[in-house]
Amino acid sequence: MSVRVRIAPSPTGNLHIGTARTAVFNWLYARHKHGTFILRVEDTDRDRSKDEYTQNILEGLAWLGINFDEGPFFQTQRTDRYVATVEKLLSEKKAYFCYCSEAELEAMREAQKANKQAPRYDNRHRHLTDEQRQTFESEGRRPVIRFIIEEPRTVAWDDLVRGNVSWSSSDLGGDMVIARVDEQGKIGLPLYNFAVVVDDIDMQITQVIRGEDHIANTAKQILIYEALGATPPQFGHTPLILNQQGAKISKRDGATSVWEFRNMGYIPEAFNNYMALLGWSPSDGKELFSLQEAAQIFSFDRVNKAGARFDWDKLNWINSQYLHSLPTEDVCDRLIPFLKEAGYDLETCDRQWLLDLTKLIAPSLTRLTDAATISKFFFIEFEEYTEEAKNALQGDAIAGIMEALINALKETSELNAESAAEIIKTVTKSQGVKKGMVMKPLRAALTGDLHGPEIIPSFVLLHQKGLALTRLQRALKGS
Ligand code: GLU
Repeated sequence: MSVRVRIAPSPTGNLHIGTARTAVFNWLYARHKHGTFILRVEDTDRDRSKDEYTQNILEGLAWLGINFDEGPFFQTQRTDRYVATVEKLLSEKKAYFCYCSEAELEAMREAQKANKQAPRYDNRHRHLTDEQRQTFESEGRRPVIRFIIEEPRTVAWDDLVRGNVSWSSSDLGGDMVIARVDEQGKIGLPLYNFAVVVDDIDMQITQVIRGEDHIANTAKQILIYEALGATPPQFGHTPLILNQQGAKISKRDGATSVWEFRNMGYIPEAFNNYMALLGWSPSDGKELFSLQEAAQIFSFDRVNKAGARFDWDKLNWINSQYLHSLPTEDVCDRLIPFLKEAGYDLETCDRQWLLDLTKLIAPSLTRLTDAATISKFFFIEFEEYTEEAKNALQGDAIAGIMEALINALKETSELNAESAAEIIKTVTKSQGVKKGMVMKPLRAALTGDLHGPEIIPSFVLLHQKGLALTRLQRALKGS
């Protein structure tokens, strides 16, 4: 049977790293098996689902380059199918109407708590008579539909990641709600655990690969497969992504949505690479690979059971490795939006200038956003010299050095790496100082700082933008 797997995000928030990592594992498995990868948007929670989140999820997956073969399918477009299936279960007495009010359910839970029992529905409306139902109806109560969970029994499966997993049906919270009834008394939108099974059956899903937080749902879902006379797929529960303290990763840890990582200057190839390593590792121990390469060797044997700790240093290292090895043209294209975002005017910069800038700064980049800081002095006049730069511009020799630099620059017809080096040599000689005594003040004058990209190419780039002379003059004035 050919492999069919899916990612099934709920559009109740932006694309989360946990969902994206699950998408990566599904994608790797699908590609490894030459199978089919399906996208299904689980939008039945109408209160919390938003179109903008759906959009964000689609754009996030596209940005990562995680392409799917079928879909996106939307659960809200499949209501008829769910309603028909609920009706079938009702007619087979595998599900029933429950009329408990919120207050009654609350009282039930309170009583259980007082008796030191786990809160659960006590199945009290499982065997209502027609008369009892009518009484509740005439009281205007709106029912929900509950699926019968037989107890006691054990639900077990052979998990692709965790091996044998078994669950007692008594620990599933009692008969579960699978659908609600709307104001007109019609069966309305189904709940997650039910819709997901109907979909996975209809879409002929062969492996359900999702986060470990769904384990209890899997036990419930297996019972629904049985009730519908369908063979369950295989299940694989991937480890949760944890923060450094070992708790589930959350917004407080810096970033959780894929879009935030993008805005922080991570590039999709590196981010995918890192996500694949969150819970999986290739047998050859390699840490840098494309998803295509990983797909060739992906297997669940090497997916960990233990939670995967999120490691910013590792992510940064991977991102920098990609940025340092990509062609300049490519890095340049990726930098442009970040430079624009920083407010730099790129209209006046020609392509070659931007490429030269990229070549200069790329080796220092960890994230694309670093470019804005590193290259700021090329675009914006610095307000003040740093203390170190100020010191470098002090002393009796500085005025003479600046003047000599200005004159030499004025006499140079075309400034390039060679002629810039020549200027420094000439000034060193004419002023009778050591090379460092020219280089240091030159850097301070041009950039306002003593740290930054290589000074000769920076000098050339600044000159091409018409900024070198004015900065040298500024330094001369202040000296
Ligand atoms: N909509 C569920 C979620 O976002 C999908 C879980 C599943 O893959 O079944 O968690």
